[in-house]
Amino acid sequence: MHGGKRAAFVAVGSELLRADRLDTNSLLATRLLASCGYTFVEKRCVEDNLSAIGTAIRELLGRTELVVVSGGLGPTADDVTREAVSHEFGLELVRVAALEEALAARYQRLGRSLPEIARRMADVISGAEILPNPQGTAPGQLLATGNGLVLLLPGVPSEFETILRTHLLPRWRGQGGVLLRTLHLAGVYESQVEERVAPLYARFGRERVTILAARGRVDLLLQASGPQAAAELAEMEEAFLAVVGEDVFGYDEDTLPAAVLAHLRGRGWRVAVAESCTGGALASALVGVPGASDAFLGGVIAYDNCLKQQLLAVPAEVLERCGAVSGEVAEAMARGAQRLGAECGVGITGIAGPAGGSEEKPVGTVHMAVATPQLLRQAHLRFPGDRAMVRELAVNFALDLLRRAVEVP
Ligand code: AMP
Ligand code: MG
Repeated sequence: MHGGKRAAFVAVGSELLRADRLDTNSLLATRLLASCGYTFVEKRCVEDNLSAIGTAIRELLGRTELVVVSGGLGPTADDVTREAVSHEFGLELVRVAALEEALAARYQRLGRSLPEIARRMADVISGAEILPNPQGTAPGQLLATGNGLVLLLPGVPSEFETILRTHLLPRWRGQGGVLLRTLHLAGVYESQVEERVAPLYARFGRERVTILAARGRVDLLLQASGPQAAAELAEMEEAFLAVVGEDVFGYDEDTLPAAVLAHLRGRGWRVAVAESCTGGALASALVGVPGASDAFLGGVIAYDNCLKQQLLAVPAEVLERCGAVSGEVAEAMARGAQRLGAECGVGITGIAGPAGGSEEKPVGTVHMAVATPQLLRQAHLRFPGDRAMVRELAVNFALDLLRRAVEVP
């Protein structure tokens, strides 16, 4: 990223310094605020401690224009972010009656009384703007200091994201002059994408393109800045689509399962799934999309061969002759899923490992098939990685195989 305004991130929470919790809010912040022209130059994790929080914010503000602080705004005694900022900048904390009443009402609706210590969630740093939190209790706060902005947001990821999206993105977007467009690809490997887009680097600049790969999906981040940013970004997008267009399933906030369901809906079709090694993960990915029911029928987890035969009518002879992990069985599973009553069926069978591989069918071997009223497609894949990775790759490749089979050209 070049140009733009400098920002830093402080993740507050002693739990984030132990082995079992990871700071993920900084990923959200850097991604969302990039579209506002902010480039993050430093991230820190600090314990729930007044001076640790205060010092981190003060130091980072010295070299950036915005410090995003996540966490420590909750109702318990260890949540001291408000107090730390108030102390560090010598600003009073003011208890806001309207916030306190809203808090009490919320607790009452949940059948609880508001503990005294929780009333601190109604404390606002003098001069800070209150950013209402529709999802939770503690509001965010935005403080303009002589040295830059300090943004305080709750640590709960859904609240963190909602406040950022509803109050700050609309206000800050476009101001930085840096525009971003993300093309989401699936069913390809990063190196294949790199090879195809590399000739475009000379034309648009290597630093304006970022390729991010994650388990069966590849994101191409394009960016443009300056007065002609919108036109340049459109030109870039057109040029990139010309070389990778068929692998693109969506843009920006789109997800692969949602894209698949939208195509199915467009056709007036529904899909059913038959899963072996993915154990329901494909169904779960589809059900994760609100409104999935109009295009997703359901499925069968046929892990043992006896269920492949009984519930999906995979012939014993085919299992015997080809083995459970084979193109023939994947196809029979897809047909079996179709017979559950959907226009489209998906079958997945594979060896997730670590045991069960052979020379002919090593760990990571996955066969999948998609049947629609018009066609039958199969894919034989050999995935790298451990059990979790093989299963996740299988889900994403199966979703993409389905996407390509049902997409209206
Ligand atoms: P807090 O606002 O500090 O009370 O945090 C509330 C919840 O959000 C806790 O369960 C935290 O583990 C979680 N949380 C806090 N900070 C982060 C972060 N940076 N990334 C992801 N989760 C977080
Ligand atoms: Mg906390």
